[in-house]
Order: sequence, then structure tokens, then C-alpha cells
Amino acid sequence: MDEKKQKIKINKKVIVNALLTVLNVEKISPSFIRIQFSSNKPVNIDPLWICPYLKLLFPDPLTGLIEFPQLDENNKILVNDRLRQLVRSYSVREFDRDANQFFVDFAIHETGLASVWSQKAKIGDQIGLIGAASKLKFNNDCLILMGDVSAIPAICYTLEHLPKKQKAFAFMQVNCKSDMVSLPVNKSIKVHWFVQNGDNPNQFVDAIISTDLSGQDKLLFWGGMECSLAQAVRHAVKDKYTYLPSDAFHITSYWREGFAEGEFKHRE
Ligand SMILES: Cc1cc2nc3c(=O)[nH]c(=O)nc-3n(C[C@H](O)[C@H](O)[C@H](O)COP(=O)(O)OP(=O)(O)OC[C@H]3O[C@@H](n4cnc5c(N)ncnc54)[C@H](O)[C@@H]3O)c2cc1C
Repeated sequence: MDEKKQKIKINKKVIVNALLTVLNVEKISPSFIRIQFSSNKPVNIDPLWICPYLKLLFPDPLTGLIEFPQLDENNKILVNDRLRQLVRSYSVREFDRDANQFFVDFAIHETGLASVWSQKAKIGDQIGLIGAASKLKFNNDCLILMGDVSAIPAICYTLEHLPKKQKAFAFMQVNCKSDMVSLPVNKSIKVHWFVQNGDNPNQFVDAIISTDLSGQDKLLFWGGMECSLAQAVRHAVKDKYTYLPSDAFHITSYWREGFAEGEFKHRE
């Protein structure tokens, strides 16, 4: 199977429709709440997945009920507007296969179903888990991981689970210094942290573009961030690395200023 077909195959989601129960809630930094969940059904997170994520289903604010989506005869979810309003994407921050438990780090912001839910969450609360997925698996390409606060959990998970000999560069922009995370020291990993700075809005893109990657054989760019930043990063890296094929770039809008998830396209 050629590489392109393999990547498409990985994109398939694993649908579980499981019930998650809150086991612990911890404010780990000024911008993040970490929630530990147990799942009532086994979930498979492939250890080779890069930046795996979950589709979380929140209780209907009017009824308090969690209503799992129906599946069609091909086992595909029947999506409607109501479902779109209640589903949010969050990354796997840690996964304990034996105990069937997850950790998810929720970035705190003022409005939003998921962020508000996480700020009120207490032990015993429940949400749904529709499924788990990833767009990419580790291969031998040198990984360039780029993200704002919303992708810090995904990038940290991926760096902590990097196969031996896998090379990676990480560029992470946080809201404040105390949001930075200490990561395993590894010669194959180079981590660059940035604190968001209104006086220097281009620091993130500039640093990515000015890093010398000429010694690396194959490059695979992965990014998750706010939509306009994602557009700027996408343009900048594609303009610089014109010789790379289009599937060397996976830069996703993880959120969009002024829009709820479901109201914009992640690929925009
Ligand atoms: C594959 C994937 C994995 C993700 N993993 C994580 C993760 O592990 N942790 C995480 O925190 N986020 C993650 N995100 C981003 C998260 O899904 C969005 O931030 C989502 O919009 C949050 O839902 P909400 O209900 O809180 O806000 P929404 O109802 O979607 O939006 C309400 C308002 O909040 C604003 N908003 C949304 N997110 C942010 C933000 N981060 N900062 C400031 N304002 C915001 C919106 O612009 C909107 O105006 C991920 C996204 C994707 C696509």
C-alpha cells in the first residue's frame, strides 16, 4: 500500500458511544483544567497515533441528558444540527489502557459549552464519548509540531510517546509562562516555547520559518491552533517548503475566534 493510501486509512474514526465519568478535576495551570475520566467501554488509542483526539458529547443544557447519535447501516454517525451543537473535539492528554481511563486538558475561556462545563465539573459528573481518532501515525519523517494553547495537550502527549529515533521539533505558544510543561529530555526533540505577546504577534510564525530544517530527510508538518494563526502558518510553511507534497502539511484550525465548534471548518 502506498503512503498516501495508508494515511487515508488511518483517518477512520473508532466509534464507541461510551459514557465517561469524572474521577478527578485539577487546575494544573492558569489556562488549563485537567479532568480524569473512566470509560464504561474499552477504547482503543493506537500507540502510534500522532496527536489522537476524542469526540466528546456534552449533556443537553436544557434536559441534562446525554443522547448518543444514531448510526446508519454502514456504522456512520447520522449528524444533525443538534448533535453539532453538543459535540466538541479534545485531545488525549494521557490514556491508561488497563484502567480504561483518560486525562483531558481543557483550556479555560469565558464562553463555550465545553470550557464552562469543565470549570464546573465535579467527581461523578458524566459526559459521552462518541469516538477516538487521529489523522496520522508515526513514520520516520521528521515531525514539526506547532500549536497554540488548544494543541498543547496533543503536542505534549505526542512528544511523551515519541518512538525512539523519531525526530521532532515542537513550537508551542501559551498564554503565560506557567502554562509551559516540562517535557522529557531527548536529543531527538527540540522544543521551542513562546508566550503570546501582542507587541510581537508574528514571533510564532517567524520562529517556525527561520528554523533550519535542512539537515532532515523528510518533513511532516502538523499544527493545531486558532483559525487565523493556522492560515498564517499554513501559508508560511507551504511558501517556504514548496518542494514538499501536499500531504506533508496537516495544519488544522482547532478553534475560531467568535465561532463555536461546528460553526466553522477545521481545514479553513
Ligand atoms: C482535534 C482537536 C483537538 C483539540 N484538543 C483540545 C484540547 O485538548 N484542549 C483544548 O482546550 N482544546 C482543544 N481543541 C479545541 C477545542 O475543541 C475548541 O477550543 C472548542 O471550541 C472548545 O469548545 P467550547 O465549547 O469550550 O467553546 P465553543 O462553544 O466551541 O466556542 C465558544 C467561544 O469560545 C471561543 N473559544 C473556543 N476555544 C477557545 C480557546 N481555546 N481560547 C479562547 N477562546 C476560545 C470561540 O471562538 C467562541 O467564541 C481541539 C480541537 C480539535 C479540532
